[in-house]
Amino acid sequence: MTPFPHAAVGLIGWKYADRRHSIKALFIFIFISCLPDADFFLFPLFGKPDWLFHQRFTHNVGVALLSALIFFPFLRMARARIGLILIALSHLIMDLSVVDTLAPIGFRPFLPFSDALLNFGVFPFVKRGTVAQVLSVPNLIAIGLELGLFVLPALILCRKEIAALRINKSSV
Ligand SMILES: [Zn+2]
Repeated sequence: MTPFPHAAVGLIGWKYADRRHSIKALFIFIFISCLPDADFFLFPLFGKPDWLFHQRFTHNVGVALLSALIFFPFLRMARARIGLILIALSHLIMDLSVVDTLAPIGFRPFLPFSDALLNFGVFPFVKRGTVAQVLSVPNLIAIGLELGLFVLPALILCRKEIAALRINKSSV
């Protein structure tokens, strides 16, 4: 999945887990929801080594829990902390549902305890590549599904909290 549906789920998590609806918590929730895909940026940074293929190290339960734990000091309430853990794990669950056509199929969410490759691919994936590939019909359908099933509902669901952020900001 692209970062948009992950961020949308992070936004919903923020709405329900952070009762204060602070902008700081919003950034943390969205950041953690997208963080496993940081390997996209690390891959070229390390010279595109074979061992650092997408989802290999960043898409597992241990990394997800650790990433949420690091931000615990910034979230005082237990409800917000539990919400952040769920949001960190949501990235893995969402990615497991995406069709994977590149070997190895799926990823290993339980490393280093289990080598099991998991994938329950039902959700179409968005291809990255040339303009023609990005604008292909299957790709536009996948992007449309991401926007229609995740981004738009999240924005509608959280519209009051987002509006309140703007009001609070302008009153400072
Ligand atoms: Zn991912």
